[in-house]
Amino acid sequence: MNVWRRLSGPRRTLALAGAGVLVAGGLVTIPVTAAQAATQCDIAYTTNDWQGGFTANISIKNLGDPINGWTLGWTFPNSSQRVQQGWSAEFSQSGSQVTARSLSYNGSLATGASTTLGFNGAWSGSNPKPTSFTLNGVVCNGGGGNPTTAPPTTAPPTTAPPTTAPPTTAPPTTAPPTTPPPGTKVDNPYAGVKGYVNPEWKAKADAEPGGSRVSNNPTAVWLDRIAAINGTPNSSSNGAFGVREHLDEALRQGAGYIQFVIYNLPGRDCSALSSNGELGPDELPRYKAEYIDPIAAIQSDSKYRNIRIINVIEIDSLPNIVTNTSGQPGGTVMCDTVKANGAYVNGVGYALAKLGAIGNVYNYIDAGHHGWLGWDSNFGPTADILKTAAVASGSTVNNVHGFITNTANYSALTEPYFKVTDNVNGQTVRQSKWIDWNFYVDELSFAQAFRSKLISVGFNSNIGMLIDTSRNGWGGSARPTGPGATTSVDTYVNGGRIDRRAHAGNWCNQAGAGLGERPRANPATGIDAYVWVKPPGESDGSSKEIPNNEGKGFDRMCDPTYGGNARNGNNPSGALPDAPISGAWFSAQFQELMRNAYPAL
Ligand code: BGC
Repeated sequence: MNVWRRLSGPRRTLALAGAGVLVAGGLVTIPVTAAQAATQCDIAYTTNDWQGGFTANISIKNLGDPINGWTLGWTFPNSSQRVQQGWSAEFSQSGSQVTARSLSYNGSLATGASTTLGFNGAWSGSNPKPTSFTLNGVVCNGGGGNPTTAPPTTAPPTTAPPTTAPPTTAPPTTAPPTTPPPGTKVDNPYAGVKGYVNPEWKAKADAEPGGSRVSNNPTAVWLDRIAAINGTPNSSSNGAFGVREHLDEALRQGAGYIQFVIYNLPGRDCSALSSNGELGPDELPRYKAEYIDPIAAIQSDSKYRNIRIINVIEIDSLPNIVTNTSGQPGGTVMCDTVKANGAYVNGVGYALAKLGAIGNVYNYIDAGHHGWLGWDSNFGPTADILKTAAVASGSTVNNVHGFITNTANYSALTEPYFKVTDNVNGQTVRQSKWIDWNFYVDELSFAQAFRSKLISVGFNSNIGMLIDTSRNGWGGSARPTGPGATTSVDTYVNGGRIDRRAHAGNWCNQAGAGLGERPRANPATGIDAYVWVKPPGESDGSSKEIPNNEGKGFDRMCDPTYGGNARNGNNPSGALPDAPISGAWFSAQFQELMRNAYPAL
């Protein structure tokens, strides 16, 4: 995230507080000045603990003069204790010292008045309660010398049920129901909090030799059909957990964010066959009533209000109706249909409006990738249709927190050995066969430029981008270690490029790929996070026709013997052999992704 965004827009952060931290130096009693002399306070600090995590509820009672704005400070007794996500105050933590500052609506405390705040936290070893608190720099003594009314620190740390039963981590009813106030979204929902680890994906990864090296990474939960809302124990991709079970498990994990993929548009995946969905092109009413509405109902349950719920909206859909209608190379009649009947635009608009109305929900719309949209003919028109969808069906651009690129794709994050501005023998590298006049040679430069374009067409200036780095690592022994020979633009680009695909239009189970950057927040200017949205190890599509009752077709781009079509320059598909249907576990691919991980595991 760049600096100017830090200075603008609403955000809550756990970053180090500045010079104004009043508890600097620990809990030494700060000399009571005349102005502070009338501060008297009583703090009740209670926690609900489970192995590794806890929810803390704090009540501040003002026993002194009226206060206009407060800063509560304390030092955690145990160095492992961490605030992860708070409400009703702006939290910062430096080492073991925590400060919580009042918000605009709860800073005034009359004499005798109380307010409550709370947070979800993490601990290891033990979770003792702080023994002393300061309010506006003055130690609270409750007027009677007892620093806290919280239960004594000898209380057993594990008061929650065993870890198999999700404890109630939602703040109790004493927390005002409006916290955080509806619509007050943090600028970057990934910052400062830990992500939800999908136990169903984790179990598959853990079952692979070496899989435990990566299985603790957060991956997205794909809601790829209506039944997935309640859980699909019989599907090849997802498991028994529905949206509610995942959210309950996220509470149990003390996760600060969880990622869902909204992926069920009418006439889904109009330009390919392996992930066609269950809804026909005219089934927008079912999409709304049977898919989006029930998801919104669960996501808006106040039980989950302290989890940042991130929705990745409809992979590939809007770019498809820009570039893959009939009359364009490889275009399809299905893309014509869903363009003409408004299914994609209105479906996306409806999803944005319905889900974006929830105070702790963050929508990121899919925005293709550089090897698809990096030409001017696609770049601007896609930005325009994204804007059209963002204001369709009663939505506004305020329902869009950002965009994601490279979802389930393999485009390299950065090409270290050439730039789009390079020339070889007087020729621009854009003339090379690989770049083919694209304006972008890698995903990071594309995502940053597309972000600017999206702002220019009317999206908010504080939108953030995500990049799916689950499978774009391109490490391993085939990775070039320097630029290619300067004999021609082609030798230069082909010798130096780390993306080893035969063509940047190849998208199915690519041979030679590796795990990319591990998920992390704020990796680069304008980028909210690198994320793993496509769960590594889940197939993109079967390499031959496999009869199934999940509606999954066979796309020849997943067949390693296929010689390609107009959309991939008639190159081989580059797909791995023996792949199962899309979403099903593909052990050989997972093993190769781990071998070729970059950064290496
Ligand atoms: C499949 C889904 C699956 C997702 C994640 C998609 O291609 O169609 O069923 O959940 O990939 O692996």
